[in-house]
Amino acid sequence: MAFESLSEKLNAAFKKLRGKGRLHEADVKEAMREVRLALLEADVSYKVVKDFINTISARAVGADVLESLSPAQMVIKIVNEELVRLMGSTNAKLQISSKPPTVVMLVGLQGAGKTTNGAKLAALMRKTQGKRPLLVACDIYRPAAIKQLETVGAQLDIPVFQMGTANPVDIAKAAIAHANKHGNDMVFLDTAGRLHIDEALMEELKNIKAAVDPAEILLVVDAMTGQDAVNAATAFNDALGIDGIMLTKLDGDARGGAALSVRAITGKPVKFAGTGEKLDQIEVFHPDRMASRILGMGDVLTLIEKAEQNFDEKKAREMAEKLSKNRFTLTDYYEQLTQLKSMGSLSDIAGMLPGVDAKALAGASVDEKAIGKTEAIILSMTRQERENPTVLNSSRKKRIAAGSGTQVVDINRLLKQFETMQALTKQMSKGKMPAMLGGGKM
Ligand code: GDP
Repeated sequence: MAFESLSEKLNAAFKKLRGKGRLHEADVKEAMREVRLALLEADVSYKVVKDFINTISARAVGADVLESLSPAQMVIKIVNEELVRLMGSTNAKLQISSKPPTVVMLVGLQGAGKTTNGAKLAALMRKTQGKRPLLVACDIYRPAAIKQLETVGAQLDIPVFQMGTANPVDIAKAAIAHANKHGNDMVFLDTAGRLHIDEALMEELKNIKAAVDPAEILLVVDAMTGQDAVNAATAFNDALGIDGIMLTKLDGDARGGAALSVRAITGKPVKFAGTGEKLDQIEVFHPDRMASRILGMGDVLTLIEKAEQNFDEKKAREMAEKLSKNRFTLTDYYEQLTQLKSMGSLSDIAGMLPGVDAKALAGASVDEKAIGKTEAIILSMTRQERENPTVLNSSRKKRIAAGSGTQVVDINRLLKQFETMQALTKQMSKGKMPAMLGGGKM
């Protein structure tokens, strides 16, 4: 999985902030020292790390900790926001020409994943934007390169244009003419790579660029090479000028250094990510989702935002009372479930809280359909049953199943979820209460 070693180290740093009542400068300093080390070990550029830590420290010390967030959560929130910013804030889209065909020139070192990911991208554009792509073999130096492009093209049912070992500039021009004639509105030029950046390669790429004026020069770099990927990006950008970056092999990148530095160092956005060898393993690069993954916590920010928008503080406090006194009943559970409808699953929400093992809560996850069933079941119970589910023997369960149009297994499942939830609340009442279950407004 991507980023796991970085995630682990960052989480270890945050763990130490748990249980702290307020954010004191010394605590933040200590945590930041560890975050800094984690980033350096992840092969994030030194300068990027330095700026990043300075920004976060300044924000964290003396930050107005939201009432419902623990200091650890507050620091994670800030780190998350800064990671997103570091990676470019929003997804940058591929440039599309006003007059077709849109020419995308794929450049990069040999082995970075140009050929495979260029083809994946062509397929993605066809699927998501209804484009009619053409793949073009401009790598005339490795005979295997043309064959490889033809193979992936055939697998994806995308036409491939090739002229053997003709001059790459001529091939590119002929390919565009071919595209015009055959109605291909996107042309992907698979250019030659080298093991190292050299003059001859750059010269050739510049000539192609001058001849076809591509809408997008997309640099393909191997995320697993960390700072080398960033150096390659800098060199290509200086020599050729690039418009965007495709990070490949993210699936094998435990450290994340390239993903985190390349935008800050080159000023050019990462637009796509390759996430495996299969031809559909490509993703549009979203800085916010990457940050969440790095922090190993799903889509936290979205959840926090949703919580901010959806929660009734007074009700939440009442619920907190009940939870802390263990007077939380199925009626309350029902109320929570209806609120959850707009929030996502319980395990997702629990997963965003430091110290709660989301995996252990898989049984407590709630989807919308299940909520509908649960509503029906709880509404078919008597008041006494809702307040005290232990009275539910098998004949009562049968009655409720009949009344709610469900099965006894559904009722048992609900009771199990409720128990899991109670266990969770016990666990949390020892530490910090998650706001959505009653810790106040997030
Ligand atoms: P090129 O020389 O730049 O054209 O690179 P290729 O497209 O031939 O890719 C080099 C190798 O990397 C091939 O074995 C690909 O299957 C592999 N590869 C490309 N992208 C990914 C990716 O996102 N994840 C993984 N695991 N392997 C990839």
